[in-house]
Amino acid sequence: MRINEKQLELVDRQIKRILESGNYYSKVYRDAGITGVSSPEDFEKIPFTDKADLRNAYPLGIQAVPDEKVVRIHSSSGTTGKPVIIPYTKKDVDDWAAMFARCYEIAGITEKDRIHITPGYGLWTAGIGFQAGCEKLGAMAIPMGPGNTEKQIQMMIDLKSTVLCATSSYALLLAEEIEKRGIRDQIKLTKGVIGSERWSQAKRDYIAKVFNIELFDIYGLTEIYGPGIGINCPGGEGMHIFDDYLYTEIIDPKTGEVLPDGEEGEIVITTLVKEGAPLLRFRTHDLSRILPDPCPCGRTYPRLDTIKGRSDDMFKVHGVNMFPSQVEAILGQVDGVSSEYKIDIAHDNSINRDIIMITTEAEGRVDFSATGERIRQLVKSQLNVTPKVVVVSLNTLPRSEKKTQRVFDHRGD
Ligand code: ZN
Repeated sequence: MRINEKQLELVDRQIKRILESGNYYSKVYRDAGITGVSSPEDFEKIPFTDKADLRNAYPLGIQAVPDEKVVRIHSSSGTTGKPVIIPYTKKDVDDWAAMFARCYEIAGITEKDRIHITPGYGLWTAGIGFQAGCEKLGAMAIPMGPGNTEKQIQMMIDLKSTVLCATSSYALLLAEEIEKRGIRDQIKLTKGVIGSERWSQAKRDYIAKVFNIELFDIYGLTEIYGPGIGINCPGGEGMHIFDDYLYTEIIDPKTGEVLPDGEEGEIVITTLVKEGAPLLRFRTHDLSRILPDPCPCGRTYPRLDTIKGRSDDMFKVHGVNMFPSQVEAILGQVDGVSSEYKIDIAHDNSINRDIIMITTEAEGRVDFSATGERIRQLVKSQLNVTPKVVVVSLNTLPRSEKKTQRVFDHRGD
């Protein structure tokens, strides 16, 4: 989907605003000779930007408005180096809440709902995004934040929460706990809005089954407002992305070439109306594709397919590119295996080979060694590498309330 006239106009306005602000990007664009855009060809000349640029501009180098316009900052924690700070104006905060409320509406959530919010509050964009969208919609927010499973379940029962907002890992943890206690009949949840992590069908099916709820994937990242810039519709495939606020491209992560709709690559997002920290052609490193056909629901917002993984999660074994999601999909095909797993990669000098080891959990009723062998065969036939497989008891691998690290590469150790 090429950029349209209206979007081009908004980008042109953004460029002029950036140049005038004297911020970090004003220098980047001045050096690149970019003064505005009037055609899709012009637009594609705008250089990509990346998290590394935002770190270079730490703390507030990307701010494009005077201080008195900024009402809030958020920060994304980097795993390495400096965090990224994103300033928001009042309009940015309002726009984000409006998009988030739209996500809830698409999921069929109304002002009668009671929304149980477990993502964290604070510097990062999670909890407060779910909260602001909920208030904008007019539903009742139950601002739990993460942790304290005991209290979560108590409040869920006493307040009759109808919507659970969580990461997939935390939703899984709560589902396991509720199943263990046999208290499903006391839980009134009808929907789950699951954010910020790519997750497998097996995990999704388990959570949906235990809670008996309809699940929605919410998309977003701190650099581009936060969660709530897109969601899947009931029965629909992929996630609708709001093209009145954002323009989305898919590029080849290696060459930067813009790919046609339907082809898989890295999501690149341009903010059309963001004031505090406008970003043009921001590389998300999330991998997906634009679904080319119109959605059966009738909404015309473009759709991104379920996030396949991150271009920086990709790992290479014996010259084969792999994603954790591929391993996860295979584990989902094996009876009795949980959706928790980790992948260790090491180099064995004595045989000069990379060794890939998959550790996963299985239920006590299945034979661990036969299960391991089945996984080994499936990975070998589907991914062309032969792993070592270790099967451990359920609840042995660590659960996380945030994103779970799946791949541990020891080759440089
Ligand atoms: Zn739809």
